[in-house]
Amino acid sequence: MAAHKITVGNVEVVSVLDGYSVKRVPTETFPDSTMEAWREFPDILDENELIQSRYGSVVLRSQGKLIIVDTGMQTDPGGMLLDDMKAKGVDREAVDIVFLTHLHPDHVGWNLTDGRPTFPNARYLAPRSDYEYWSRPDVLANAAHVRDQVMPLNDLNLIDLVDDEYKITDEITTVSTPGHTPGHFSLIIASAGERAFILGDVAHSPAQAHYTDWNPMFDIQQDISRSTRHKVLDQLEAEGTLVSSGHFPDPGFGHFVRIEGRRVWKEL
Ligand SMILES: [Zn+2]
Repeated sequence: MAAHKITVGNVEVVSVLDGYSVKRVPTETFPDSTMEAWREFPDILDENELIQSRYGSVVLRSQGKLIIVDTGMQTDPGGMLLDDMKAKGVDREAVDIVFLTHLHPDHVGWNLTDGRPTFPNARYLAPRSDYEYWSRPDVLANAAHVRDQVMPLNDLNLIDLVDDEYKITDEITTVSTPGHTPGHFSLIIASAGERAFILGDVAHSPAQAHYTDWNPMFDIQQDISRSTRHKVLDQLEAEGTLVSSGHFPDPGFGHFVRIEGRRVWKEL
């Protein structure tokens, strides 16, 4: 089994797990795809040719700060994030910063528990433009998860809105990767000559390493998402950057590499 803990220079990166999505028909989740193409990935399809998404977060230790990136789904169907953190030696009360790549339900689920901050000593950071999008009355009216798991943080004065190229620490910087949601951010880790990229939802399946045009139905700005995915994956492949992906198979660490002319996801 692949290691759930890696280091990038002086930054420690721990993959933690909230659970898995319901099983879905891949061509429904990715309307541009075909079953014929999916059958090129026998490891991704289950015995009924269905796919399932991992709800993964990462915990970062950088310059004395304990940071969790995204907080899972909490309710659907397992919600084991806190147990998994404990099992991997991460104390939720010691978390200094909760960073949200975007404000979808499977990334903000554990922000609060029974109306109280799950991470009682943390500041919560969210991309400003995503927060502004989800705050629009017409959007918020249909986004119970934002009303329940994000807006109360504002009332409690616990949320800080951050922009592109914001430094969480000297080693961790935000980068705007829009399309999946309008204000979606990824993170760049750069420490002691090493680099890694926290992908967020720029991609949802290793199949998109090759079929980079495939957008999941969850992408809000389909054209922008596709163009962001091409740009980001091309760059990560060219640089050989280590990637952490929350929806890819556990623990979600790997590289985009080209083998015989075809880009693939290669797990660590
Ligand atoms: Zn997601």
